[in-house]
Amino acid sequence: MDKNRGRSFQTIAARKAEFSQPDFTDSERTVREAISKICSKYPDEYWLEHDNNHKFPHDLYNDLARDGWLGICMPQEYGGSELGIAEATVMMQTISESGAGMAGASSIHMNIFGLEPVVKFGSAEQKKRWLPPLIAGKERACFGVTEPNTGLDTLKLQSFARRQGDHYLLNGSKIWISTAQIAHKILILVRTTPLDQVKKPTQGLSLFYTDMDRAQMQVTEIPKLGRAAVDSNVLFFENWKVPAEDLIGEEGNGFKMIMHGMNAERVLVGAEALGLGYAALRRAATYAQERVVFGRPIGKNQSIQHPLAESWMSLEAARLTIYLAARLYDQGYTSGEYANAGKYLAAEAAFEACQRAVLTHGGMGYAKEYHVERYLREAMLPRIAPVSREMIKNYIGEKVLGLPKSY
Ligand SMILES: Cc1cc2nc3c(=O)[nH]c(=O)nc-3n(C[C@H](O)[C@H](O)[C@H](O)COP(=O)(O)OP(=O)(O)OC[C@H]3O[C@@H](n4cnc5c(N)ncnc54)[C@H](O)[C@@H]3O)c2cc1C
Repeated sequence: MDKNRGRSFQTIAARKAEFSQPDFTDSERTVREAISKICSKYPDEYWLEHDNNHKFPHDLYNDLARDGWLGICMPQEYGGSELGIAEATVMMQTISESGAGMAGASSIHMNIFGLEPVVKFGSAEQKKRWLPPLIAGKERACFGVTEPNTGLDTLKLQSFARRQGDHYLLNGSKIWISTAQIAHKILILVRTTPLDQVKKPTQGLSLFYTDMDRAQMQVTEIPKLGRAAVDSNVLFFENWKVPAEDLIGEEGNGFKMIMHGMNAERVLVGAEALGLGYAALRRAATYAQERVVFGRPIGKNQSIQHPLAESWMSLEAARLTIYLAARLYDQGYTSGEYANAGKYLAAEAAFEACQRAVLTHGGMGYAKEYHVERYLREAMLPRIAPVSREMIKNYIGEKVLGLPKSY
């Protein structure tokens, strides 16, 4: 805390993404500064242009890869830096907060923790084959769990893999798969034993990490509300031949593997939402200072000022929960109440901040050139994915409050 002694208060409008919160550890501070520096090359105009033209942000991705950030949580043995989720949380918040929003964060999200099942359950040969190219940014990966017919009811997913000699034949479909247009690899969860032949529904699902062989699948982009720089897709595959050596761990144990690291993923998405909320608030506070109507800055009106003050408090409360969840995760804590609560609170606070930022800008809030309308569109996403608000409340209701399962 010595670093903060005597430090004068910085307003949110002045702070930009290089501002370091007083509770940061030295290593979190280092991450914050380094990532801010990289992101400062990519202003809001860059993200607006990529959103308008549905263009993946290759430049930012390559910069982060070049400086080793794609391996922030990956083992050093394969080229990673083996830092914790706490540092990755700061990194994702900082990227989003720079104005890159969910688009910037989603462009590398899968690299940060997506391959945790490989790290934990893959063979030495698989790790050597898969991790170095991912960490170096030479291969991009996507994540295939959600299905059109089953949604959040993951255990009922219908895609099926049947073993045939040295390979599996995969049949089925996936929906909402981010970056599938440009990914080289996919981490995909499918059933290998029918649901009616397993003792527990969590059994009989298997996880593969394999080539996105476009000759054997159909990838169709979904037009959507926001985050257009990063594509979302429907996948269809029929008798897709996947080598048996691409199966991770034991057949039938895929669900257990995918659950591992789920809390970390919630923390990271929460951090991405937070960044968006702070970016919106920064723009709102700046505009409220500068815009003069009825002979005074609009920020002098408490109906403009107070909602923004409330948003700062909500974002900070969410941030403290998210950072607590991240640090607990790094200490080996496995329960999900703080990760889920943090993701929920961050997504709600970010959405509210974005909405208030649009309203603060009046008509200009509706114009693309002020960027807050893009933030607002993106702010819907962390409320829905990777797990919805309702499912988080179900989790807290059951696990924390001990109430009966409602579904
Ligand atoms: C832009 C975007 C990117 C995504 N990227 C990926 C990706 O890369 N890979 C991937 O696998 N998936 C991805 N997803 C999918 C995402 O994880 C799902 O959309 C999300 O989990 C919700 O599932 P669903 O859309 O099927 O909703 P549904 O399961 O159809 O649910 C619809 C609504 O009903 C509610 N509901 C359902 N059951 C209950 C219940 N029991 N109690 C209370 N409420 C309930 C839900 O909360 C939700 O509000 C992405 C989604 C989006 C929008």
